[in-house]
Amino acid sequence: MSRQWVHTASVKGRFQRIHRWTGFFLQAFLFVTPWLVVAGRPAVQIDIPARRVFALGAVYTASDAIFLVLALLIALFSLFLVTALWGRLWCGYGCPQTLFLEEWVRPLEKWIEGERGVRMARARAPREWKNLWRRIAKLTAFAVLAVAVSMTAVSWFAGARPLWTGQSSAAAYVMVGVFSAGLFADFAWFREQFCNYLCPYARFQGALSDKGSLTVQYEVALGEPRGARGAAQAADAATAGACIDCKKCVAVCPQGIDIREGFQLECVACARCIDACEGVMAKQGHEGLISYKPLTPQPKLRPRTVAYGALLTGLVTALVFQVATHDAIDASIARAPGTLFVVDADGWIRNTYLLKVINTSLSPMEATVAVEGLPVDAELSVAPVRIAAAGTATVPVVLRMRAPEGPITRLTFTVDTDGGHARLPATFTAGGG
Ligand code: SF4
Ligand code: SF4
Repeated sequence: MSRQWVHTASVKGRFQRIHRWTGFFLQAFLFVTPWLVVAGRPAVQIDIPARRVFALGAVYTASDAIFLVLALLIALFSLFLVTALWGRLWCGYGCPQTLFLEEWVRPLEKWIEGERGVRMARARAPREWKNLWRRIAKLTAFAVLAVAVSMTAVSWFAGARPLWTGQSSAAAYVMVGVFSAGLFADFAWFREQFCNYLCPYARFQGALSDKGSLTVQYEVALGEPRGARGAAQAADAATAGACIDCKKCVAVCPQGIDIREGFQLECVACARCIDACEGVMAKQGHEGLISYKPLTPQPKLRPRTVAYGALLTGLVTALVFQVATHDAIDASIARAPGTLFVVDADGWIRNTYLLKVINTSLSPMEATVAVEGLPVDAELSVAPVRIAAAGTATVPVVLRMRAPEGPITRLTFTVDTDGGHARLPATFTAGGG
């Protein structure tokens, strides 16, 4: 079956004003954040090659994976809770797919090719230059938009300044190319099919929502039997429904569905049909026939929402605790490769280690290294440990003992800085005693 192209009509109304504002704040967050700097470092950057994340003045390294896990779980359960309470609120107001289609792609299309009726006529018309140049202009605008959005998306990972000034790695620009191609195909052609066939979130709607979740619904009892204005009233004024069958709700729907046929899985809860019908019905002196409603009224506090809420509270508490107790250093110690122990000319036994200290703060620091419970006849030699802001230092540590207690002595290295403390268990080897 060939695809029915969806030509949406423009619409104004209270929910579209909410869209404008949420769209403005989401885009400001998406486009501006990669350019923000805190203490000379990116305010937010997910630096995958260096396996570290800059977040508002702190640096999280691979050993802080717990933060990533907690953040992802919080995002996941927030989505579950929002879906259980308000249905596809995310799809309608937060999803980048909806955001860019509604805020850029469709306005650009309308500006270049005209309103719905004109666009439909142009789509049917023979291929002539007077229509062709508009199509070329539209696709060029979509290509520019796709590159701008892709550059912004990759800026979150590669850093905005290096990426936009041509100083990022080749891999970063390859990613921009791949994203741009995908986004261009989406803007120019795929559009609502992404929600219908590819989006995994849409596939899980049935499992995530219940009869108490909000959906967009047509008031059958008020609207039916529908009919052209006057026709129904003339037939039977007492039983005529309020719907005048103007099909405005269908014309504005980006998913190409008729909500009067009942709840449909394709509906992304964008409320364009609500605004359209409210506008039409206001002229009839009647309230709108389409609204956000649960399939059956249910209390907000029900087992599903309480469970999601409790889990979310626990996860947020754990994340806050982790952030509050996040140490400024991350240290590890290992025996120097290829060495076990050495008997020096003076008879002392020497073990050599490599100490690695990661500075997870945005200020340079110095670390002091010591060994707990070091015997009197032992020597610790370690060069000064200076670590750049958000940097790593690896230094050799030499420990000598004249007469170890046995073949293996258990000990604990301590690393202290202004903002952090680490205790590192290790062993001192003295041979097969
Ligand atoms: S039916 Fe209404 S709420 Fe659902 S996608 Fe269409 S316009 Fe948006
Ligand atoms: S916009 Fe309202 S009145 Fe017009 S067809 Fe849709 S439900 Fe009926």
